[in-house]
Amino acid sequence: MFERVGVVGVGFMGGSFALACKEAINCQLFGVDINPEAIKKAKELGVIDDGAKDIRALGEFKPELLVLATPVRTFLSIAQSLVEVIGQDCIVSDLGSVKGSLVYRMEGLLNGRFVGGHPIAGTEKAGVENALRDLFRGKRFILTPTDRTWQEAKEKIRGLWERFGSLVEEMDPYLHDFVFGAVSHLPHAVAFALIHAIEGLSGEVNLFRYPGGGFKDFTRIAASDPIMWRDIFLENAQEVLRSMDAFVTSLKRLRELIEGGEEEELTRYLSLASNLRRSLG
Ligand code: NAD
Repeated sequence: MFERVGVVGVGFMGGSFALACKEAINCQLFGVDINPEAIKKAKELGVIDDGAKDIRALGEFKPELLVLATPVRTFLSIAQSLVEVIGQDCIVSDLGSVKGSLVYRMEGLLNGRFVGGHPIAGTEKAGVENALRDLFRGKRFILTPTDRTWQEAKEKIRGLWERFGSLVEEMDPYLHDFVFGAVSHLPHAVAFALIHAIEGLSGEVNLFRYPGGGFKDFTRIAASDPIMWRDIFLENAQEVLRSMDAFVTSLKRLRELIEGGEEEELTRYLSLASNLRRSLG
């Protein structure tokens, strides 16, 4: 399928992708990362065969597939550098959490050989030392092709992810950003903001000394990597803001019901949420 695969950004996702490739297609893997420690660790752990800090090293490796697994705001400058170092027929894909106009801007630099993708799998832990071989098994993988996408490149990427055991689904890049702005980016924004609220309320009493199970469950994702999330919020700002507005409206409604002591309405509000959440399993 692919004999030589390059990964730019050998962190948690890039490392998990490399491990999945090794298992599914037994290819040669070359990693590029601005952090030499990440390359060193990835080699020690057997995640990549070789690697370098400088992206130009990919020229010699001649990858057939190159996957970007860095924070999303680095993609364009990486793509600019890639144009000079990879062959015309090398397929480029990514694992980034934002698509929308970014996909079209990437195509502007890389043409139809760029195939946008987003695995719906992850954790709050960063770094190659946390990479998981089986991360993608049974999880959704969203492909975001456009009219320009090479069909053959798209089918090869689909085939690779199916070999990982992922459930591949296609989605318009802008629809992707609306959907994941709501179900992924908003919850992360709320978790980060909740930690700030508790910090703000902590005065005489350090409230973080009394974390209940609910608090810990709810805020687990606030321990996620700040750079990765800064990039996601800024790159998907329009949809994140739209979701945040909807959340503020819904929080205000809850506040009104509590303030007004509206027992019946409050029960209805909570029951609707509780039933919807239970239906997710
Ligand atoms: P990570 O911090 O574990 O890894 C990112 C790696 O990229 C680091 O090793 C860092 O040194 C390297 N890097 C940063 N800038 C670089 C550059 N300009 N050139 C080369 N290397 C660079 O982060 P992660 O969790 O692996 O996330 C990577 C990507 O995957 C992001 O785009 C994120 O949106 C996406 N993603 C993450 C998750 C998740 O749960 N963590 C889920 C889905 C998608």
